[in-house]
Amino acid sequence: MKIIDAHIHFCQELYFDQIAELAGHENTSAHLKEQYAAHNIVHGVVMGNRSLELSDHHYPDDLSYCIGLDSTCFKVEEAVRQADLVEKHLLRKNCVGIKLYPGYNHFYLYDPVVDPFYQLAMQYKKPVAVHTGLTATSNALLKYSHPLILDEVAVRYPQVQFVMCHIGNPWLVDAIAVIEKNENVAADLSGILEGRIDRMTDFFAEKHGYINFLKVWLEYLDKYDRLLYGTDWPLANISNYIEFVAHIIPEKHHDKVFFDNANRIYQLGL
Ligand SMILES: [Zn+2]
Repeated sequence: MKIIDAHIHFCQELYFDQIAELAGHENTSAHLKEQYAAHNIVHGVVMGNRSLELSDHHYPDDLSYCIGLDSTCFKVEEAVRQADLVEKHLLRKNCVGIKLYPGYNHFYLYDPVVDPFYQLAMQYKKPVAVHTGLTATSNALLKYSHPLILDEVAVRYPQVQFVMCHIGNPWLVDAIAVIEKNENVAADLSGILEGRIDRMTDFFAEKHGYINFLKVWLEYLDKYDRLLYGTDWPLANISNYIEFVAHIIPEKHHDKVFFDNANRIYQLGL
């Protein structure tokens, strides 16, 4: 089975190096390439971090990227100027969307300051991926990353395709409601595992309640054409993640979740 990893980070810095090690990986493009070959992962979508400069976003051919407005590079008071820069990215073929980090940046998705970015997404017909759910740093604010907030912009911008990253975890029921109601909202399943898990069978037994809850609500939703495989590399172990997603998604939907949906939503042309 061919796989697209619809959510990775590709940042050469100490923080990412350390989390890669905990996941049993090395945060290098050579190691990533080797892992991709070993698991038949044919493409990855990078969620951008750290900079909006065009020169900071060069990736190997098997990676595309969403230009990311993380808390280190996005300034609310400079949003208009920064939107110009984002537009230059969207003109590139390998820039396949915009990534927003409201919890880390302390803004609501429906704040007018974000409007220029939705306008660009509409104009260039590229999706807006949004970090939802729990955050990795304690100075982030959860009230901004709650999945329910996505409902208002999904309604306001029906032509924009949204990707709810991490499916709002652990607010899964709220996330499912937003996805069910809004056809323009998909979700990636990244960021649910972290580190390396020695035996997945033990993990499935220990986390039986949680995993069953997730499966139950995905079954209830029954929108397997809007769920995307993603890992949040280098946060989690690749082989663990494939096993995890294969376990929570019924086998007849694997091709869609592991490949087709990302290919269609990020318009990768694979
Ligand atoms: Zn991420």
